[in-house]
Amino acid sequence: MRNEDEVLLSAYHEAAHAVFAHYDGTDGYNVYVSDERGNCVYRADLYERYLPMRYAQFNLAGAYAAIVAADLEHPTPDEVPLSWLIAGAERTPEGDAWYALEALKRVVKEGDVFDSVGEAYAFAMIKLAGLVEKRWYEIEALAFALHDRWVESEEGIGRVDGDELSQIIERIQGEK
Ligand SMILES: [Zn+2]
Repeated sequence: MRNEDEVLLSAYHEAAHAVFAHYDGTDGYNVYVSDERGNCVYRADLYERYLPMRYAQFNLAGAYAAIVAADLEHPTPDEVPLSWLIAGAERTPEGDAWYALEALKRVVKEGDVFDSVGEAYAFAMIKLAGLVEKRWYEIEALAFALHDRWVESEEGIGRVDGDELSQIIERIQGEK
């Protein structure tokens, strides 16, 4: 069982994936957090049709947002080095880090922009910092909604469905 802080960080994590997916026009999914660990709920297979750099960012967004939420600042590059990504990929095959790493390998292989996975990764993280910053209030609003529902739920699940997810994001946009 996870404690409340862990669930809240998990909510930021899932919210960041969901906000990214929303802006990429991926509809028809829902997002949830639960008492159990490791709920990257919708592995959007659709994303494999996306450009690999974008797909890498989608996968990295969850962990990145959870770090920002925990530390109240963006991680510096030496806090999230390539070795961190590789360790995550080895720990959890077909998890976020694993998909991100595979996508970055494709970026290097298929393009002529980056000479190494390390370079592509550094670029992805810079882009991600900007996107997470730009969408932070939306990520946070969705994370709070997930967390609140988890608190209220008797099954230990906090869930937001697709339509409502869009509404939460659009409400925040309206407030800006
Ligand atoms: Zn994730």
